Amino acid sequence: METILVLAHTEADGSLARSVREALHAAATLHKSLAGSKLVVGLIGDKVQTAANSIAASPATKYFGVTGADFTQSRYATDVAAAEAISQAGQATVIVAPATSRWARVLPGVAQRLGGRADTHVTGVAAADGKISVSRWYYRQRMEGTLTRTLRPWVIGIDPGSQTACDCGAGAAVVEMVAVTLTDAARRTTVVGLREPQADAQTIRPDAQLLFVTGAGWTKKQADGQTHVPEAEKLILGFLKQARASLGSSKSLVDLGGEGQTVLPFLSHLNQIGQTGATPRHAKGLSTCCHGEEPHTVGWRFINERRAISLDPNCGWARGKADVLYVADAFAVITKVNELLAAGSAA
Ligand SMILES: Cc1cc2nc3c(=O)[nH]c(=O)nc-3n(C[C@H](O)[C@H](O)[C@H](O)COP(=O)(O)OP(=O)(O)OC[C@H]3O[C@@H](n4cnc5c(N)ncnc54)[C@H](O)[C@@H]3O)c2cc1C
Repeated sequence: METILVLAHTEADGSLARSVREALHAAATLHKSLAGSKLVVGLIGDKVQTAANSIAASPATKYFGVTGADFTQSRYATDVAAAEAISQAGQATVIVAPATSRWARVLPGVAQRLGGRADTHVTGVAAADGKISVSRWYYRQRMEGTLTRTLRPWVIGIDPGSQTACDCGAGAAVVEMVAVTLTDAARRTTVVGLREPQADAQTIRPDAQLLFVTGAGWTKKQADGQTHVPEAEKLILGFLKQARASLGSSKSLVDLGGEGQTVLPFLSHLNQIGQTGATPRHAKGLSTCCHGEEPHTVGWRFINERRAISLDPNCGWARGKADVLYVADAFAVITKVNELLAAGSAA
């Protein structure tokens, strides 16, 4: 009989991130399809009662907590000790956790300490005939593999954004506190602060509804025989700021910098979408000044609704790669869209 533990840490304000609700949804679905299984939740943080209450209507029958100032910050030594103690208290055989940056560092260590195994980048968990299987993508998301394990405990890191979030409501949860004895060495590392780019500089936003893709056309000579890179920069950043979209790019555009041409300074290879780039998951995508060639559009596999703006009516987007192609000048279209967005937010 499996005992499925959802392992989570609280956010700085004591709440639970969406990725926790996603892991909980995956675990609850697994629990439902595994007769005789138990579902429990383990929470780690300064205080966990508010977080536990926020998901109290979930099908979990028990809540465990490790709390205190030592467990507020993201620190391997204390996180792994807390996770190990909760897993043992809950007698977990399957441990499902969101692969946040904090947990991704810790989960393989938890499996090692418990004599189990860990699988990362999991995007699906299922059970059939009493057998659990997980799925994940390989080879730059071109092949999906499904695997099972007999060894327990089995630690499963769920990729954030790959599941629907559990909408289990709030209530009053009874949290059983688990004591963890820490050595001084475990407290040696201290997080002294967080540095993050300003909102305008942070162009990759995995949680955004919209992926906004820029192609090399933004830097090419336009109808007047001139390039308009500073104007392109202003339009793109203006759109990103107002639409809170995530910024993707074609390879040609990010490569231009390496070839000594004038490029958009906020783009790097991290923004590249495609065969040799990323395959992000967003509800919608809007491509601009990009030709829509196969090595690029293969990275749009998980984008549900696709639109493109290109001057070329015979571009790849017109050949079945996009739901809607606007044959238009992206400079003119995005100028107008930015005006409408500004008017909308002012209204
Ligand atoms: C092995 C391999 C791997 C690759 N991997 C990737 C990858 O991971 N990702 C990737 O993106 N590419 C990849 N490529 C490259 C890919 O094949 C294309 O060369 C690249 O995507 C082209 O980029 P682009 O469409 O931005 O540029 P271009 O082909 O130069 O197209 C620019 C487009 O902008 C349009 N345009 C210009 N001005 C305007 C305007 N004012 N308004 C509207 N439209 C305008 C033009 O009509 C044109 O269609 C790979 C290639 C190979 C061989």
